Amino acid sequence: MPLLALILGASALGAALPGGGVAALGIAPSSVSVPPITACSEINKRRIIITRTSIGIQGAVTTKNWRNTQWATSLLDPMYRLSSSYRPTNLVAITWRGVISPKGGYLLKREAAEALSAMFAEAKLSNIQLKILSAYRSYSTQVRVFAGWVAKSGLQQARKYSAVPGHSEHQLGTTVDLGSLTGVAWSNPKFPTSPTALWLEANAYKFGFIRSYPAGAANIALSCYGAEAWHWRFVGKGLAYEIVCSAQVPRIFLWNRQNGAERVIAPSCDLLTPPEGYVLPSPSPTPPASETPSETPSDSPSAPPTESPSESPTETPVTPP
Ligand SMILES: [Zn+2]
Repeated sequence: MPLLALILGASALGAALPGGGVAALGIAPSSVSVPPITACSEINKRRIIITRTSIGIQGAVTTKNWRNTQWATSLLDPMYRLSSSYRPTNLVAITWRGVISPKGGYLLKREAAEALSAMFAEAKLSNIQLKILSAYRSYSTQVRVFAGWVAKSGLQQARKYSAVPGHSEHQLGTTVDLGSLTGVAWSNPKFPTSPTALWLEANAYKFGFIRSYPAGAANIALSCYGAEAWHWRFVGKGLAYEIVCSAQVPRIFLWNRQNGAERVIAPSCDLLTPPEGYVLPSPSPTPPASETPSETPSDSPSAPPTESPSESPTETPVTPP
């Protein structure tokens, strides 16, 4: 069956209680059919088409939530992309030490920059010295970054870690790559278990940041990119809390959200700190493990990309993907 009927919450009770016992329990009846998201294993097999003037993934389409107000729930993966002309509003400069200042060498949306500044200050109290390695990247910058990774490791390796231009969360202006000022470097295989990375795992959501690409084979298969302990996306405190609570890969959470599914609340949610004033809905009676939508290859027709980057790839990357 290609479509998994994602039956959450009260609908499971409804089936067990014929005659409409659901409403009496005060839980809105719901049964949402979430269409399957295209499997990473399928989209990562698609050709990357490079011409003299453009680069793109075969069959890629503009993401549903592409508008400037939709940055928090915009789904970007190797299938869904932003337009090459997308540029976030409200970009402010921030230094590599996380201080908002016109002298800063990085750009972020103001909301993300302010949250990041607060997070840097809080981390310092735990003796964690964060630094920004990369922040907003325009489409044309991503062209250079991706081309650099291709030159360094080849196309197939590059696409595992670096987004094809248009597909990068860095183009949203809300995403940062973070490293440690004093500790293990982001590129060190030990970085994911370093105090800096562990601190981020435990605390970043309190400032509205989520890790887009978690570790583990199952998560990598669902996020379409290799594990990146340095890559953090700002979505706001409420949504970050909900995503971490769900224990779902952000790509899957956002897909389900876009398609009207109810939230998943994983058991580990009890251990998290909700944002001030946040009211957590009652937990779903259905175990979260069964609520990941099934993946099937998409049958959408392939169309070559048409947008042209404004600069040709030439530089070797110095930033993380
Ligand atoms: Zn990144």
